[in-house]
Amino acid sequence: MPMIDPFNRTIDYMRISITDRCNLRCVYCMPQKFRSLPETDILSYEEILRVCTEAASLGIHFIKITGGEPLLREGVSDLVRQLKHTPGIRKVSLTTNGVLLSRYLDALCAAGIDGITISLDSLDAERFRLTTGYNSLDTIIQGIHESLSRTIKVKINAVLMDNGGGLQSQWRDLVELARALPLDVRFIEMMPIGYGRIFKAVAHDRILQGLHETYAGIREDRASRGAGPAVYYRIPGFKGAIGFISALSHRFCRTCNRIRLTAEGMVKPCLCYASGIDLKAILRDPAKTNEAVCQALKEAVAMKPAAHCFIPSPQAPEGSLEKRAMVAIGG
Ligand code: SAM
Ligand code: SF4
Repeated sequence: MPMIDPFNRTIDYMRISITDRCNLRCVYCMPQKFRSLPETDILSYEEILRVCTEAASLGIHFIKITGGEPLLREGVSDLVRQLKHTPGIRKVSLTTNGVLLSRYLDALCAAGIDGITISLDSLDAERFRLTTGYNSLDTIIQGIHESLSRTIKVKINAVLMDNGGGLQSQWRDLVELARALPLDVRFIEMMPIGYGRIFKAVAHDRILQGLHETYAGIREDRASRGAGPAVYYRIPGFKGAIGFISALSHRFCRTCNRIRLTAEGMVKPCLCYASGIDLKAILRDPAKTNEAVCQALKEAVAMKPAAHCFIPSPQAPEGSLEKRAMVAIGG
């Protein structure tokens, strides 16, 4: 039986953050002096697998491994392999900044990874450095090419910042990647969560208008629209699609299909609210059975709000909104 939330949405997808550490410092996600949790506060792989086994029995079929930077944690490919052998789990994918991708690609492929999303905001080396704090662009590009050569399904996710000049060439360069390579390039609107609050989001209608002005024959591709929040467009002659995940300008909540498990073991019904259920306490209590784990997952689904609310309102007062950095939640 699938899990259906109070707004009739089927919840079959779980994002799992396996670490709150990172080897980049994207300005909108993680501050330079972020204090990571002690290792004992992070769920072990055994605990994560226990949650996933119960979640799969309740209808969670799709898992996304995230972080922090998930490839920083040892044994990710073993986790992928075990998840792929968990009855009910159909697809396991990973989102990464790509810095360590080449190193772990063989092991991830052998484990049966179904797709890799690489976060990449700019193809300009200096802008990349200013955004992430590091000169890793070439390494990431290499990881993208190596992933494609192994015929892994690759998506690029880009968060744009309205920081004056260069915006047009920034999105154009990224879009052109999908002409040359068989991958989807998706733009994610900056969300006012954590350090994202400091930056102004680039409304996607602006980029879409630019796309229409630049590329004749561009059209929305409804067939590519999966259960997730992205809206896709096709451009004649391009190998990949262009997607938009427009959290702010076009609320995507009507089709929300997910819950989140943070690295410290909190199940979050919605990215934008602080509320959640402390699964770690249940997992580490010897008196609690797997039934209690299932119950907590069902409660999280029952708590899902109709929509996000990034701006405080009488229905969503300041105190109810998420205050933690995105790196601590998993995006
Ligand atoms: N380190 C991995 C990566 O960068 O893909 C996984 C974790 S990261 C938190 C997941 C995604 O969240 C990235 O694509 C990142 O760009 C996005 N993200 C972080 N802060 C954001 C914000 N304030 N608004 C929108 N997306 C954000
Ligand atoms: Fe690290 Fe990903 Fe956050 Fe960038 S977006 S700081 S790569 S967790």
